Parts: sequence; C-alpha cells; structure tokens
Amino acid sequence: MIISEQKPKEEILEMLKGKKRVFIVGCAACATKCQTGGEDEVKEMKKVLQKEGKKITGTIVLDTPCDERIMKKDLSFLPALKNSDSLLIMACGVGLQTIGKLIDRPLVPALNPLFAGTTERIGRYYEYCSLCGDCLLDKFEGLCPLTRCAKGLLNGPCGGARDGKCEVNPAPARRSGVNDEIDCVWALIYEKTKEPLKAYYEPRDYKKILMPGRRVVR
Ligand code: SF4
Ligand code: SF4
Repeated sequence: MIISEQKPKEEILEMLKGKKRVFIVGCAACATKCQTGGEDEVKEMKKVLQKEGKKITGTIVLDTPCDERIMKKDLSFLPALKNSDSLLIMACGVGLQTIGKLIDRPLVPALNPLFAGTTERIGRYYEYCSLCGDCLLDKFEGLCPLTRCAKGLLNGPCGGARDGKCEVNPAPARRSGVNDEIDCVWALIYEKTKEPLKAYYEPRDYKKILMPGRRVVR
C-alpha cells in the first residue's frame, strides 16, 4: 500500500491561507490503514480547521480516491463542493490528481506519500519495492536490492556492512517511524543462499524502467 504521513498542521494552514470555505476529502484505503486520512483523521482535521476559523463545507471519506470510475460516482453529486474555496485532500498524490481530473477546484495536499510499503504494525512500515517495472526478485532470493540496499546495488554487498547492518543508517531514509538499525539486504540475501551469488548483473535498461508518467493502456 501507499505509506503516508500527515503534513505538519502549520504547513496545511499555510497552504489554506485565504481559503475560508474548505471541503475535506479522506481515503478509506491506504490513508485509513496508515491512520493519516481515514474517518478519525478527517474528523480531527475538521476540528483543527474550525478552531482556526475555517468554515468546513463538508467531508467525505472516499473508498478509493485513486479510482476514477468510483470517484465519478462518489463526487459528482456533491453540491457542497461548488461552495468551497478549496478541497483539502487527505489521500496520496495519485488520489489528489485523480480528484483533480474531475473537479475544477484548488486542491491542497494534507499528506506526504512516502513509498509503497509493507506494514509490520501501525507506524512501522518498510519500503520493499520501488515499482521499477522490471521485477528481478527471482534472482535475489525474493529480496529487492534495488529498493532495500541504500546504494541500490545489484552486485553487492558494498563492503560497508557491520554485523549485518547497513553502513548507511538510517537507510533508505524514507522509512517511517523506525529508529532501529537497518539490515543490509545483501546480508539477508547471503543468509538465504549461504553462498555469494554467481551471476554478475549488467546495469539495467533505465530507458525502460525510468520512463516518466508510466501508463498502461490496453
Ligand atoms: S525489482 Fe524491486 S523495485 Fe523492481 S518490481 Fe521487483 S521488487 Fe519492485
Ligand atoms: S551495507 Fe549493504 S545495504 Fe547498505 S549500502 Fe552496503 S550493500 Fe547496500
């Protein structure tokens, strides 16, 4: 899922400066699971903004703001939006931009989406995949060095690991709510294979995997 954190309230208020009437949109999927944009957080945000003198024209927690088909059904009938100066979006950037395709109103992001990650428990998330578009997990014992090695080495380790921990600490820096040391993914790979990998991996074809604005159209 998309792991997110809430932006600081001061930053949100700054973005809403001059906007009196605000409609708040939450997300019942990833942002609810991260406790950053579900029902409870939307209610809390409403209170905060009201205290700051904002008029809340309405709130909604959408099932999947990243799905245009559902969005069309959920939002088209909401007259409250017409009377709003701005929508505060408590969803990821995909959700916000999907909403932006359908609604001609200024949109303010309330969250910082961090990465696609796995959840150990609420507040402890790990980035395991960079969605590179050319998965190599069969070659690395099901562990992704591209994402989990701080240097993205496909021919590791770098020699800097100590007691199985990465020399870049914390690394990758985009983990949320974690203070402990980070495993060297190459140490984890060797733990599984019990021997160095034999293959040498050529540099990847970045023309393929770093194409901007990737899309699938069938
Ligand atoms: S190689 Fe790594 S980044 Fe690419 S798709 Fe597989 S898990 Fe994701
Ligand atoms: S210590 Fe391991 S995870 Fe860290 S940069 Fe070196 S090879 Fe990558």
